[in-house]
Amino acid sequence: MFNPLGCHSARNMIRIEELPCPKCGQNMELFIREGMLAVEGRCDFCGNIIATGTPAEEVEHAAG
Ligand SMILES: [Zn+2]
Repeated sequence: MFNPLGCHSARNMIRIEELPCPKCGQNMELFIREGMLAVEGRCDFCGNIIATGTPAEEVEHAAG
């Protein structure tokens, strides 16, 4: 998988979460650090973009 941040930032642990796209509901992979997007998230299905810094919670709730 493409990881633009590499894997050497041990102090700033990034995890990958699959969350449903707020727009189309398809799962999208998001890079989460400290509860928010570390990297801009882009939906492969509808092209929806979630900005860096958006709280992961917000994405989950938006999908409701
Ligand atoms: Zn989508």
